[in-house]
Amino acid sequence: MEQITIFHKIRDKQIPADVVYEDDEVLAFKDIHPKAPTHLLFIPKHFVASVAELTPETAHLPGMLILKAQKFAAQQGIAGYKLTFHVGKEGGQEVPYLHLHFLAEQVLE
Ligand code: 5GP
Repeated sequence: MEQITIFHKIRDKQIPADVVYEDDEVLAFKDIHPKAPTHLLFIPKHFVASVAELTPETAHLPGMLILKAQKFAAQQGIAGYKLTFHVGKEGGQEVPYLHLHFLAEQVLE
C-alpha cells in the first residue's frame, strides 16, 4: 500500500505550504528548512517514492521536474541554481516522495 507522506498532504492541500508554482503535473513549494536563500522542492503530482523506485513507466518524471524548474528559473530571472535528488535514507532522503531540490543564491522576488 502507498505510504502517505507529508508531501502527499501538501500536494492534496491537507497541510499548508508556501506554493510558488503549480500546474496539472507538478507542485513547487518553499522548503521549510531552507539551505540557501531560495530553496524550493518540485514534486510530481503522480506519486513515486524515489529515484530508486522508478520504472520505465515513471522514468520521465525526474526530467519533467527538471524542465519545470528550468522554466520557473527563467521566468523568475534566476540565472544559476543547483538541482539535487536525494535517493534513499543513505542518500539523505528523509521524505519518501520523489522531489527535486532547487537551490539558488538569488532571492525569489
Ligand atoms: P530530503 O531530505 O527528503 O531530500 O528532503 C526533504 C526536504 O523536505 C527537507 O529539506 C525538509 O526541510 C523539507 N520538509 C520536510 N517537511 C516539510 C514540510 O512539512 N513542509 C515543507 N515545506 N518542507 C518540508
